[in-house]
Amino acid sequence: MRNFRNVHARLLLAVSLALTVGLLGAGATAAPAAVEQPFATQLVRVNVPTQEARDRLTTLGLDLTEHGGPTYVEVVLHRLDDATRLATAGFTWTVTIPDLALRQLQNNEIGARYAAVTTTSPLPSGRDTYRTLRDYEQELRTLAASNPSLVRLFSLDRRSLEGREILGIEISRNVTSTSDGKPTFLIMGVHHAREWPSGENTMEFAYDLVRGVSTGDARITGLLDRARVLVVPVVNPDGFEQSRKWGDLVDLREVDNGGTVTILGTPGNAYKRKNCRLEGLDATPSGACEITSPGGFGIGVDLNRNYGGLWGGPGAAETPEDPTYRGSGPFSEPETQGVRELISSRHVTTLITNHTFSNLVLRPPGIRAAGETVDEPAMYELGARMAAQNGYRNIHGWQLYDTTGTTEDWSYNATGGYGYTFEIGPNEFHPPFPEVVDEYLGAGLYTGKGNREAYLLALEAAGDPAHHAILTGRAPAGAVLRLTKEFTTATSTGPGIADSLESTVTVPGNGRYTWHVNPSTRPEVMEHRVRLLAEEPTRSQTFNWTGVWMIGDHVDFEFSLPETNVGALKVALDWPTPDDLDLYVYYRNPDGRLVEVGSSGNFVLDKEEALVELPEPGSYVLRASNFASVTPSFTLTASLHGVVGEDVFGGNVVESYRLTCERPDGTVLQTATATVDRGRTSRIDLKDCQRRFSG
Ligand SMILES: [Zn+2]
Repeated sequence: MRNFRNVHARLLLAVSLALTVGLLGAGATAAPAAVEQPFATQLVRVNVPTQEARDRLTTLGLDLTEHGGPTYVEVVLHRLDDATRLATAGFTWTVTIPDLALRQLQNNEIGARYAAVTTTSPLPSGRDTYRTLRDYEQELRTLAASNPSLVRLFSLDRRSLEGREILGIEISRNVTSTSDGKPTFLIMGVHHAREWPSGENTMEFAYDLVRGVSTGDARITGLLDRARVLVVPVVNPDGFEQSRKWGDLVDLREVDNGGTVTILGTPGNAYKRKNCRLEGLDATPSGACEITSPGGFGIGVDLNRNYGGLWGGPGAAETPEDPTYRGSGPFSEPETQGVRELISSRHVTTLITNHTFSNLVLRPPGIRAAGETVDEPAMYELGARMAAQNGYRNIHGWQLYDTTGTTEDWSYNATGGYGYTFEIGPNEFHPPFPEVVDEYLGAGLYTGKGNREAYLLALEAAGDPAHHAILTGRAPAGAVLRLTKEFTTATSTGPGIADSLESTVTVPGNGRYTWHVNPSTRPEVMEHRVRLLAEEPTRSQTFNWTGVWMIGDHVDFEFSLPETNVGALKVALDWPTPDDLDLYVYYRNPDGRLVEVGSSGNFVLDKEEALVELPEPGSYVLRASNFASVTPSFTLTASLHGVVGEDVFGGNVVESYRLTCERPDGTVLQTATATVDRGRTSRIDLKDCQRRFSG
């Protein structure tokens, strides 16, 4: 192996050269001026000891990552001004990656070495490097062309601001059928430009499914008999094109070979987050997206703040220069509008939107004040099962920090389909490629599981009628059934936006339809209650532990709970250095089996805490698990709390779909009302339609 230290010395020389001459890469256009001050773009860990500090940090206009713990949030500082702003606001921080351009160089080098010794990676596609946008597009087209009965190419209804198609594929057995009424699983990547592994993991799952069918894998074949899968690996093609291209320009190999200097004083747009919106323009002129402030974060809309659900509230900035700029209005961007139209026209019963990084499985709601969703038990449980495959933490979106206008906060409340955000990987936006392999297939404790298995569980849930609803009955063969619904989606500002769902199915030749749909009543209008707990415990017990343990070890404590009618069991874990331990609470079944009932992901305030509401009397195991700690001691406290009151959200409204039965030319022959709850089947025979259709 070559001496990295020497390489670095030469790199630093080359970096300063690049600073004075700007970008020298062959074929480069519109080179931005060299930065005035040698401030290295860096990743820092900002201390937020209280919820108030966490809330305040989100108001500073800084480039917050999705990586946070009980007492910190990681932030990208693009320029000296960012650091000054942070310091002026009274925050302290430690530096995690001191120079992201240099880090990019190192990652490229590690990736190049991996690719040099790898013919075929263990990934389903065999890839050993990050895809470019062109790679994604070509592979999607090839997958569809090579598997016509299994894979169908589609594009979102809107083109990106630079005029690109946003491509996806649909995968299912007999994919072109319009009459099977199967439920749909949607998986997406790259809302945020710099989060390359989010597209890779999405794409590999597509390959996995195609390969599973071609090799006769019974599980995958069965899943694709029961459900359809929509795959959109790059939601933000304009931004991704910038990030991916500039990431390559920071290229160590060129320097090593004595070739043209192509490395940069800044990472260029390699760490761009948003899309390419230039405020006030309907389309972005060619080349304009590239000429931006260092880091490329100054222009564009944060697509994961632009969805309609509670748009315009906390954690989504109002000013275009802000890294979390929410856009000029809900769904103002073609990319989010395209995703909206896709979800609104299909029964997406479960979706996963992939991001990087922080090893998290996030579920609604995105803001703390919204309380628990009505489907919290089911979404928690599926989240926990997925997190058990990839080792991520299973938490609410708001437990990272409050956000509004995110994908699943809209989709879940508009459709009732479950939604999750995966934050893939432990510590950076686009790590060396081998990490993609590990995250997808699983490594270490998770070997053979990983995101692959988590996605399969999500697909199973998407196909499981216990989690959605079914409409069935008799109708004339060949008739088109159309399900529609209009409602208002609440935003944080103004009266909300008009929203609608519309989907169709063709009645099969036997005159009996079975249509897997989302429940007719939206979660948002259903009544849900939040229990308010007494602050003073009725009883508490503390366990202190000191010893030697290794990463992956855990220590268990037995906790006996003979009391009945307890409001909540709170378990708190405290130790000298934060974020390196995980906490799990198990209920011991009569047969001795341990069932996870809570984890540190379950309820985070200022420290690691698990909350079990209405705990069953019996015996519990409290487990401290060493995720990455050398800490020799910790304290664990279990406390019981009573209920002092309740907050009620929603109005207990029952909503219905409008079901029309039509001739193929659109003539409506019968209109019916379809009301169906989650986990239920509703039978609707369309007899009038039958009579008129043949008449
Ligand atoms: Zn993201």
